Amino acid sequence: MFREPYFVAENFVNKKPGNPLNLVNLKTEILCKGIKAENNIEKGRKSGAGPAGGRYLVLPDNSVVNAPLWPHFVNKSDITLKRFDSGWSLFKNGEKITDVELINTPKFYSLKTPSGYPMYKIALLHGRDCVATTLLQSCVHWSTGNGCKFCGIENSLRTGSTVPRKPPKDLVEVVGAAIEEDVCKHITLTTGTPSTKDRGAKLLAEATKELKDRYEIPVHVQLEPPEGNYLELLANVGADTVGIHIENFDRGVLKSVCPGKAEVSFEEYLSAWRKAVELFGEAQVSTYVIAGLGEDDNSILEGAEMVASLGVIPFLVPFRPILGSEFENRDPPSASRMVPLYEKVAGILADYNLDPSRNLAGCVRCGACSSILEAFVCRG
Ligand code: SF4
Repeated sequence: MFREPYFVAENFVNKKPGNPLNLVNLKTEILCKGIKAENNIEKGRKSGAGPAGGRYLVLPDNSVVNAPLWPHFVNKSDITLKRFDSGWSLFKNGEKITDVELINTPKFYSLKTPSGYPMYKIALLHGRDCVATTLLQSCVHWSTGNGCKFCGIENSLRTGSTVPRKPPKDLVEVVGAAIEEDVCKHITLTTGTPSTKDRGAKLLAEATKELKDRYEIPVHVQLEPPEGNYLELLANVGADTVGIHIENFDRGVLKSVCPGKAEVSFEEYLSAWRKAVELFGEAQVSTYVIAGLGEDDNSILEGAEMVASLGVIPFLVPFRPILGSEFENRDPPSASRMVPLYEKVAGILADYNLDPSRNLAGCVRCGACSSILEAFVCRG
């Protein structure tokens, strides 16, 4: 399968490193500082798995950013979003940076599935064209008191904005509506970790199969390293890409921030990544690396190099506080720390000939939560 890249290096404006309007700087500043916006705009979901609390903005050259709009740290941001008759613009310290587009709430959110679920409770639009869902909205680590301190997966259940299990048949209907609306080009399926050895692979496989039986669309699945042949099962039902997320390469940090996940050894991650690259191919396997949890830069760079050498993309994101999580009042890392990290990790990807724009589905393709794609494309 081949897909057109969303953008090419020649089209990037201001790609000179150090230029305040350089796209990597701009996107990273938005991810790390957030944007102050008028009160009368819809500011996005507040909780759930993954980086919530924002809206998707289209920056110059078609780059999409998941921009934090409401968490506490946004009040300190020097970037503001203003509406004009002609559209939206970003300002920094009162000076206009650029015009931007806001990705609107899709129409399928107002529809219901045939079994009566509001479609927005089954799956959401991420970025410009990725329909994403958390198949199981609970996690064994929460029930044992060992949940990740940055995660809000079960909070959105309490607010009633989602359902505990997403029935695959309903998901197929939602994806159909999103395809019809032309807002779905790929799918992200994630899951809270159940207590079983497959670590959610069976749920992911069931949903992937239903989707692949109906649509020709790339599907990304995310899970902890399963025990047994479950990565093979996911490949057999047609999943295109897989995310096996280490979250942080510093084992001490991981133990303190993600005590449940840290019980899975690093060796298990290594062997799952190796197996996944065999099954799905280079650049089709990724791992979230969250910066700003207490690690140092070396742990990120050494870890990124190690996974890149296996063919795995380190999807580097700045920590983002989620309302209701233990870390809700923490700040993200600074953009001045993240920009050089992005540039170095992009250099590592280039050394291993690992182009993230080859990735077919999921977070790496969507790219809204990380500047890694922009850093790779714009590298000097
Ligand atoms: S990068 Fe992943 S979590 Fe972020 S918006 Fe895109 S699909 Fe969602």
